[in-house]
Amino acid sequence: MRGKLVVGNWKMNGGLAANARLLDRLVTEWQPTEARSLAVCVPFPYLGQAQAALASTAIGWGAQDVSAHASGAYTGEVSAAMLVEFGCRYAIVGHSERRQMHGETDGLVAAKAGAALGVGITPIVCIGESLAEREAGATDVVVQRQLGVVIDALGTELPKIVLAYEPVWAIGTGRTASPAQAQQVHASLRSALTRARAPDVKVLYGGSVKAANAAALFAMSDIDGGLIGGASLDAMEFLAIARA
Ligand code: PEP
Repeated sequence: MRGKLVVGNWKMNGGLAANARLLDRLVTEWQPTEARSLAVCVPFPYLGQAQAALASTAIGWGAQDVSAHASGAYTGEVSAAMLVEFGCRYAIVGHSERRQMHGETDGLVAAKAGAALGVGITPIVCIGESLAEREAGATDVVVQRQLGVVIDALGTELPKIVLAYEPVWAIGTGRTASPAQAQQVHASLRSALTRARAPDVKVLYGGSVKAANAAALFAMSDIDGGLIGGASLDAMEFLAIARA
């Protein structure tokens, strides 16, 4: 059984005091089971705070990006080895905000995933189509292209990733893919992963997931949990999603 995973993406939000309250609430309230896991991906400066708060709990933590390079003259970048020093279990790579605002290509995203895997961190590889691509009927072509580059780059390491399908038109917009729309894409991704000998990769859904719609999405056979943006900043909402 693949088990469910819910990951919060705080994006560029938070502050020491607010983080402490949020993390404390999660630690107090979260009851893990074998079937479900919880994690938060926080801004780089707060990794130490997340590590201190979560180290002796069942809640994982990670970063929202990682450099494809090991070290050197890459001002502003953070290496995978640095993330290991802060106990990160996960690193999000290829979030659509980075693809759109920072010009990240499929190839760079795959290289970042490889860098994370190289130090034992699980990359959460984000893929998804824009509204224009969906309306042009190109959803499957786009997500299969994005996944295909990762499959080709990672080879036998592929089973160690987590994949997140995040339709760009649903991120932070309040518009969510219906469970049936999401399941259709997830099933297609699952087929590609199975052909690539990685049938058990968790495939998360992301895009305006809330407590009110999480249960219906997570009930789909190929949806293994969620990557949660805005709603992960509210402890009770985030926990309600994770319990859904
Ligand atoms: C995200 O940032 O990955 C995301 C899914 O955001 P939101 O839940 O706010 O749409």
